[in-house]
Amino acid sequence: MNSSSKETVKLEFESRSHNEQFARVVTAVFAARLDPTVEEIEDIKTAVSEAVTNAVIHGYEKEEGIVRLFLTAEGKSLTVVVEDDGVGIADIRRAMEPLYTSKPSRERSGMGFSFMEAFMDEVDVESEPGKGTRVRMVKKIGSVFPV
Ligand code: ATP
Ligand code: MG
Repeated sequence: MNSSSKETVKLEFESRSHNEQFARVVTAVFAARLDPTVEEIEDIKTAVSEAVTNAVIHGYEKEEGIVRLFLTAEGKSLTVVVEDDGVGIADIRRAMEPLYTSKPSRERSGMGFSFMEAFMDEVDVESEPGKGTRVRMVKKIGSVFPV
């Protein structure tokens, strides 16, 4: 890819949990064009997996809806947007706190947003109760050089 060009793909899928794997693989294939390290790919896949899982299990709960994934590569930067039209988040700051979960259970530890923040360079969340949630994440590929 010419490093100055910008490329975007958009993907829409139903909010079924098995589509999380699909989103993860598609993102990894798209990100590969930026020549990431294996570790960078793993970070991106983990972040996408957390955001899509949130859209499916929290955004839509028992309803079925559409999840949208937008992937943009520009220069050495990958932007991932995960959007749902679900229940939304009333208090985004609280939702993003480590260990906060609205569904305490054996599987939910309240660490999804913390992982997204740890593995990506930027994470921002927009949400409106009753309208949906949009998570935008940016990863700069090749920004950390091993010594
Ligand atoms: P874990 O990710 O560790 O399984 P979790 O999903 O509860 O647990 P986070 O991913 O950090 O933890 O999300 C925190 C909380 O934010 C969720 O419990 C939920 O209340 C809310 N939330 C996150 N994403 C969405 C979304 N797309 N729609 C509605 N609520 C959301
Ligand atoms: Mg989560």
